[in-house]
Amino acid sequence: MPLIVLHDVIKSFATPDGKSILAADSINLSVGDGELLAIVGPSGCGKTTLLRLIAGLETPDHGRILFGEQNVTRQPPKERDVAMVFQSHALFPHMTVFENIALGLKLRGVARGEIEDRVRDTAAMLSASHCLDRKPGKLSGGERQRVALARALVRQPKVLLLDEPFSNLDEPLRVQMRNELPVIRKRSGATVVFVTHDQEEAMSLGDRVAVMRNGALQQVATPREIYEKPANRFVASFIGSPQMNLFHGSVAQREGRLLFIGAEVEPEVSLPRFVLETSGARADWFGSNVGRQVLLGFRPEHISLADDKAGRNTRSIIASILSEQFIGAETIVQVQVGERIIQLRGGGSQTPRAGEEVTLSFDFSHVHIFDAATGVAVDSVFKSAA
Ligand code: ADP
Ligand code: MG
Repeated sequence: MPLIVLHDVIKSFATPDGKSILAADSINLSVGDGELLAIVGPSGCGKTTLLRLIAGLETPDHGRILFGEQNVTRQPPKERDVAMVFQSHALFPHMTVFENIALGLKLRGVARGEIEDRVRDTAAMLSASHCLDRKPGKLSGGERQRVALARALVRQPKVLLLDEPFSNLDEPLRVQMRNELPVIRKRSGATVVFVTHDQEEAMSLGDRVAVMRNGALQQVATPREIYEKPANRFVASFIGSPQMNLFHGSVAQREGRLLFIGAEVEPEVSLPRFVLETSGARADWFGSNVGRQVLLGFRPEHISLADDKAGRNTRSIIASILSEQFIGAETIVQVQVGERIIQLRGGGSQTPRAGEEVTLSFDFSHVHIFDAATGVAVDSVFKSAA
């Protein structure tokens, strides 16, 4: 049974100019007991609001929130057994780390001996034992972050809510905390809802990832499913770096061949005489959708530089190399076709030079097809009530 269930939760805010912002738009979501759910989306999409609703710091305008069997929709935060860590974690500067971590337990009237044990255990779990006698001013950024986590975990909450907890850290520390969090989570046994605007962080941490936009959930699924079967063009573009290449156009049939004809639609500016013969696993779909306007998506790893220029045909198009970024294990190659820039992952044999003409071939066995008008994946199995 899921631990947290949000059922049709709506929350709007009034703006100073008398309008209203829908920060949570009919949210249906469940979080499993012991799960780490990562919520990701651009700034302002409603992530913090969603966490605050779960914490009880906001009350929904409509809908219900359940913890297990219990309806907590109108319950105050302190009755919910949740702890929340915010992006900017204010520690009390005049208190030692020990006192900072102990404070919550002290206020709850926990016995001194037990406080001592729990603070020391929690600090050890977070590799922060050496910090206990220091003041926050004498800590590094990573240590401060661990202390903020310790302060939340020392209460042994059933639910831990983390709101962009690592976004103030430098890259190496962020990566370190990202590696440590799953270990900390396992040791504490808490159910974690983790909010971030960083798709890579969400993908690397989440058992499942919930992608949000404009207050609404776009897709809730495992990282692999989100990457391989994005439910719509927003998820397709938001997740993955470099971004998926998207092309507007329509399906056509000529002399028995199924073609994709590129069209000029901003901002996916067309490619000149862009005609691709479709092939592979989706032939059935293309065959029964002749004439339909679509948006085709290819991940950078599913477009390749064909070696054989003599083999130019309707499965490939000519492009010129714009630039290359060598980033170690792979090379990101940017090529230009007309006005359009296409990004692909190289790794291949010889390195083409800027300006050189190359042939691109598209792997239709990995094509993503979205409806041109709605942006919804044509074979989407997405249900927001995950
Ligand atoms: P995120 O955390 O994804 O950046 P938020 O949940 O903070 O997004 O905000 C979602 C939207 O709701 C934003 O447009 C924000 O300005 C608005 N909002 C959030 N809290 C309030 C509030 N207390 N009063 C008015 N508007 C708010
Ligand atoms: Mg926020």
